[in-house]
Amino acid sequence: TNIPRIVVLGAGYAGMMTTKRLTQQFAPEEAEITLVNKHNYHYQTTWLHEVAAGTIDVNRSRIMISDVINTRRVNFVQDMVKKIHPDKKQVELESGTLDYDYLVIGLGFEKATFGIPGMDEHAFSIQTVDKSRMIRDHIEYQFSRYKTEENPSDDMLTIIVGGAGFTGIEFVGELAERIPVLCKKYDIPRNRVKIINIEAAPSILPGFDQELLEYAKDSLSRRGIDFLTSTMIKEVKKDAVIVGDEKEEIKCGTFVWTGGVQANRIVGESGFELTKGKVNVDQTLRAPGYEDVFVLGDCAWVMNKDTETPYPPTAQIAIQEADVCAHNIRTLIFGGTLQEFFFDNKGTVASLGGGEAMGTIFDGHQLYGLQAKMMKHVIDDRYLFMLGGPALVLKKGKFRPF
Ligand code: FAD
Ligand code: NAD
Repeated sequence: TNIPRIVVLGAGYAGMMTTKRLTQQFAPEEAEITLVNKHNYHYQTTWLHEVAAGTIDVNRSRIMISDVINTRRVNFVQDMVKKIHPDKKQVELESGTLDYDYLVIGLGFEKATFGIPGMDEHAFSIQTVDKSRMIRDHIEYQFSRYKTEENPSDDMLTIIVGGAGFTGIEFVGELAERIPVLCKKYDIPRNRVKIINIEAAPSILPGFDQELLEYAKDSLSRRGIDFLTSTMIKEVKKDAVIVGDEKEEIKCGTFVWTGGVQANRIVGESGFELTKGKVNVDQTLRAPGYEDVFVLGDCAWVMNKDTETPYPPTAQIAIQEADVCAHNIRTLIFGGTLQEFFFDNKGTVASLGGGEAMGTIFDGHQLYGLQAKMMKHVIDDRYLFMLGGPALVLKKGKFRPF
């Protein structure tokens, strides 16, 4: 049979939404759709800071793929992608190979360590469900250990978060809520616990609206977060970080790195042409030199033609790219005009823990506090609705302000 084989790699925002759209664009006899992912679940990457702090349950962030994708229509393969061979039109998996006619790469991000010594060995990162759960468990273990050691040092309770981008800021916001709960549980006075967010730039959230970042800083400082700005992390040790030109050592019991992300290394290892580690796709989202390979989400370097800057790696963009990708695959098979990707910016809202949040929507309108927090829920619930309809919103949605 000559039915085209479409293979989607990764069940993140890009991969899930592309698969969903493909099932809507093609009748079953028109295309064979395969989705490959290492787990049998999809997770809300944008909630992982909550999993890492322990403010939401691990399972809340996970959605079984078979709950939202019709697995009689889509061939779901639970496996690890090892490498892509675009010249052979083949994907190498841990347990076999897959041939494709059209490929969609949505393998997401991994932590960028910038070669900082000790980062690979000693830093935790908010990257997957499993890695985020380990942060939650480690922090709680340090509290537990503190109560049983003979001469415990308060350093054991110090949590350092490296990088005050959105991930770092959202994470310390959750810690501000979680730590008082742990203090109560383990009978530890709150003032024994230090939470320090270290940022190399002169301010937190570099490049973001001044008023909004001031709001975030005030809200978080009031709830016990210390900020060290203009301070570069140079090295990470088992129980400390080394910062600044003076190589000052700050002891800690937990170090979480939120200093940046890069594309899944598989795209580079597969020989695609890269710009800053990402596949520099054209406006139709295809890899240079390969008309049948689409790269989306955090693996893709997509230029904003108006500003001549690349789009940032966000879920919002990954989701929008999926629409263009599914449309363009249909066009390649049945003819028509290929679509170019244009980002429709709906704004950026960051949660700061509890009922606190801040951000901008649509035309730059600013939101603060509870209003922003409710908007954050609307954004999250809207995605759940797009993916799994009202049933998924009811099952996993967020409604209460905190
Ligand atoms: P991912 O979401 O990373 O998904 C990749 C998928 O591929 C995963 O399911 C993974 O299991 C799978 N995979 C990876 N490697 C393999 C392999 N070798 N074999 C098989 N499967 C594999 N963006 C926003 O727009 N708004 C937000 O509020 C926001 N909040 C964030 C909060 C946090 C804590 C973090 C860390 C990020 C946040 N982001 C947010 C950024 C956003 O999460 C990413 O841009 C987005 O997840 C990228 O989507 P993706 O589909 O490219 O990849
Ligand atoms: P980022 O790259 O945006 O921020 C990393 C921060 O770490 C930067 O401020 C950088 O100056 C700092 N840093 C880097 N090296 C350092 C060092 N050696 N010492 C100290 N500080 C250092 O990464 P992120 O916060 O993980 O965000 C990744 C992407 O995900 C972004 O596009 C972001 O917009 C998106 N995101 C969005 C939301 C949201 O919309 N609510 C939440 C989280 C993430």
